[in-house]
Amino acid sequence: MSTAAATAKPGFDRQGTLDDGARVDTAIRTFVAEFGRSAALHLESCVHCGLCADACHFHLATGDAKYTPVLKLEPFRRAYFRSTSPLAPLLRALGLVKAPTIADLQQWQELLYDSCTMCGRCTLACPMGIDIAELVKEARHGMFEAGLVPERLALMDRAARQWGSTATPGEDLPDILAEASREHGVEIPCDLPQADLLVTAAPAELGEHTGALAAAAKVLNRAGVRWTMHREGFDASNIGFNNGDLALQEKLTRSIVDTALKIGASTVLLPECGHAYGAARWEAARWYGQALPVRIVHMTEYLDELIADGRIRVAPVGASATFHDPCQIVRRGGLEAAARRVLAALGFELKELEAHGVGGLCCGGGGGVVSNQRAAPLRQKVFEIKRAQVEATGAERFVTSCGQCRITLEMGARAAQWDKPVESLLELVADRLVDER
Ligand code: SF4
Ligand code: SF4
Repeated sequence: MSTAAATAKPGFDRQGTLDDGARVDTAIRTFVAEFGRSAALHLESCVHCGLCADACHFHLATGDAKYTPVLKLEPFRRAYFRSTSPLAPLLRALGLVKAPTIADLQQWQELLYDSCTMCGRCTLACPMGIDIAELVKEARHGMFEAGLVPERLALMDRAARQWGSTATPGEDLPDILAEASREHGVEIPCDLPQADLLVTAAPAELGEHTGALAAAAKVLNRAGVRWTMHREGFDASNIGFNNGDLALQEKLTRSIVDTALKIGASTVLLPECGHAYGAARWEAARWYGQALPVRIVHMTEYLDELIADGRIRVAPVGASATFHDPCQIVRRGGLEAAARRVLAALGFELKELEAHGVGGLCCGGGGGVVSNQRAAPLRQKVFEIKRAQVEATGAERFVTSCGQCRITLEMGARAAQWDKPVESLLELVADRLVDER
């Protein structure tokens, strides 16, 4: 994709210099290339029951039928039926399925990027097992290739292609960590030639949220882990995964896994970031063609293990709390019980949200939506559902285990002048460490 970029009009950005016809052709070609057998089966099996609509927070928050999840696949579906379905020649000849146009793709950019967080709640609700979240992710590949990505996300993509991170070039990492180390009074090793654990970060942790980085350092140092961060592989958030930029997704994944191998680390620790988990835990093996040569764990499961093994101990907080389940970590990642065990170790009386666990409602900011400024009004409507559910619990504290969810919820709280802090599970553990030395 060219680095030249221009905003066509609000709600529809484009990158590069392709004319409209070439954009449509590129998008369709990429959609068609994505149709493996399973995608085709998914697209063929919808029975139009509408159950996915009531699962989607964007539909719930607005009542607008255009946010019905399966409709987000419409141009993808049309490309399939015109190109590779068994009846494609007939459907084309009779004009029964229209070819997607640039106007369709324009409308689709908003549906795919502004109003889908790839949270998978619709996937869970669908009686036919249609994985809409996965198909949205595949559809984004075509949009990226056609230069049809929200400009805010495209900007981040260009930074990550150049720097290996949306936050900073790798060469600046030692200075950033040294500064965080001074500010928080904790040792944060960087670029060690040998370690057992490679620790990665989300971009916000290298900027305004270094407290999360310091919390991780306090826990790991207390547990006596031989760990390091490393300038050659440190940003786990993987903007390529969100944007549909497969080449970048592979580059970012390899930077982490290959750096772990280089320093002899058997494990990569992911930060409190949901999409990092989706990209590294579930998709990394595709770039290696075999089982991954390193173990990849999310911060929540690592905390759970450290507590269970007695390598750290925490003092109980003694309050009630409710927990926002990050979609990529819990619904799509399976870590529902691990987070609750850590909350129990912290002595919280857990008051569950009405929608929780694998059925939890998304924060509204996943899949890059939090970084897409033009989606802010829609995000805010989603926030109001979460706020109502949190208030209904009567819980004293509000905790989550994804930094991006936390940022999204904090933005919502600020806009709504809601004064409930959103707390990080990791930072709570770090604050409550019992010093046994
Ligand atoms: S993946 Fe989530 S945001 Fe996207 S359509 Fe499904 S429920 Fe809605
Ligand atoms: S829930 Fe599944 S079968 Fe029903 S309309 Fe949605 S995608 Fe189609």
